[in-house]
Amino acid sequence: MTISMDDLVALCKRRGFIFPASEIYQGINGFWDYGPLGVELKNNIRDAWWREMVLCPPLGPDGDPLSIVGVDTSIIQNPRAWEASGHVGGFNDPMVDCRESKARYRYDHLQVLRHKSDPEAPRFAFLEGEPAPALKRIKKLARGKSEADFEQLPLSELPREEMPKVVGPDASTPGTLTEPRQFNLMFKTYVGAIQSEDSVAYLRPETAQGIFLNFKNVVDTSRVKVPFGIAQIGKAFRNEVTPRNYIFRSREFEQMEMEWFCHADEAQKWHEFWCERRATWWQRIGLRSDNLMMRPHGQDELAHYAREGQGTFDVEYRFPFTAPGFGELEGVAHRTDFDLKAHQEHSKIKLAYFDQERKESYMPHVIEPAAGLSRGVLALLCEAYTEDPSRPSKVYMNFHPAMAPIKAGIFPLVNKEGMPEIAHKLYAELRERHSVQLDVKQNIGKRYARMDEIGTPYCFTIDGDTAKDQSVTVRDRDSAGQQRIALDKVGAFLDERIRPG
Ligand code: ATP
Repeated sequence: MTISMDDLVALCKRRGFIFPASEIYQGINGFWDYGPLGVELKNNIRDAWWREMVLCPPLGPDGDPLSIVGVDTSIIQNPRAWEASGHVGGFNDPMVDCRESKARYRYDHLQVLRHKSDPEAPRFAFLEGEPAPALKRIKKLARGKSEADFEQLPLSELPREEMPKVVGPDASTPGTLTEPRQFNLMFKTYVGAIQSEDSVAYLRPETAQGIFLNFKNVVDTSRVKVPFGIAQIGKAFRNEVTPRNYIFRSREFEQMEMEWFCHADEAQKWHEFWCERRATWWQRIGLRSDNLMMRPHGQDELAHYAREGQGTFDVEYRFPFTAPGFGELEGVAHRTDFDLKAHQEHSKIKLAYFDQERKESYMPHVIEPAAGLSRGVLALLCEAYTEDPSRPSKVYMNFHPAMAPIKAGIFPLVNKEGMPEIAHKLYAELRERHSVQLDVKQNIGKRYARMDEIGTPYCFTIDGDTAKDQSVTVRDRDSAGQQRIALDKVGAFLDERIRPG
């Protein structure tokens, strides 16, 4: 069943997961703020990734533990780095403007509806996945014709001579869309007091380049040997033409990227290894449904750095707004030696690696799993959202316990008769290890309902019997079932259940 994005967005707002940025000033398009629960969810995903990549990397194909180190590099780097990486010249999305509505769209995001037999009928453009306004226009502008007479195709596949007949997504007359033009997605700023062409700098559009810039530093100062990885998590900025679909496509977002440096001969082996490993990681943090899939990229979709390599695999998720299609969550690319070579050429600093075992100097190839942390948050939110009309809350979030922002609620059944004292003691014990909440107010049903909505997997209730038999009721979020366990076993009960899968 496809969930409603409006309902999910409303829950995220109501419960403090995600807010529009600058909301009291009517917001700012393409920017979002994470609230108290959203930041916990995001940090849980971030920490699970860091653990998987840096603290406890997996065993490689031959059973040896892999070696991966972390870095945290500057958002602003020398602008020459972005010339070398190809971003100043090539980091463009072709886009079209609408002369009538002044709106700007990404060319590859526009679809058109074209009449199957009448060449004179207007072509109605719409944003992929959002055909409703175009369908409305069929009724208004193509009298006597019905939806079924129209076929859908990408705008890029429409013959150029038909462009004057296209009605833009927000326009009322045909022929107002421009030809596609290039648009640089990097945010520009100035460094220092003088604002001139010489002081222009860019906010990084990806975290990866900071890793390449430090490749030599890491090799020279740590004990890594090829093959090894360097990982980084951090903000990236893209002045997206059409930010949309909530936090799926925003202008400021977070990435989790790892560059795996290996010998060119082994690139294919490592590419396969990381594709498999990354897909199972998303499953382990809770994307269990068939909404998750791996997809090889077509050669024409490849980024400027990946054209000669093994290609790219996407880990994709069926978001409500992409359904029945999928949207990219992570790309696992073979970047070849493109970046190191480019930086060597532009910086004139030798970046080749001397391999002691092979007795050979070479430019390592790179396999890059590049994931969106913000998109990961959205995928987990979509996956967790579960309607259940039989519950007071009507909906619960069934996050994997390891990802849930709050792990347990601790409730004295009533705020008297010694129950609050026991609850406070249990709370003091559990909060040392886990994010737990003590809630003494309202009736117990309302407290469970609130925990359901924020996806807390367990609630421990202290009642009249607790003082007598030293046991508490555990309520399980997913089944809503209850059982009694010993008070002194609560900590172990929780430890065991909230480990990542
Ligand atoms: P898209 O085709 O959706 O623009 P991309 O292929 O350009 O994405 P990459 O450059 O491969 O994306 O970036 C790696 C990851 O960063 C993506 O898989 C995605 O999860 C995330 N990402 C990229 N752009 C955005 C954005 N505007 N908002 C949120 N996350 C993003």
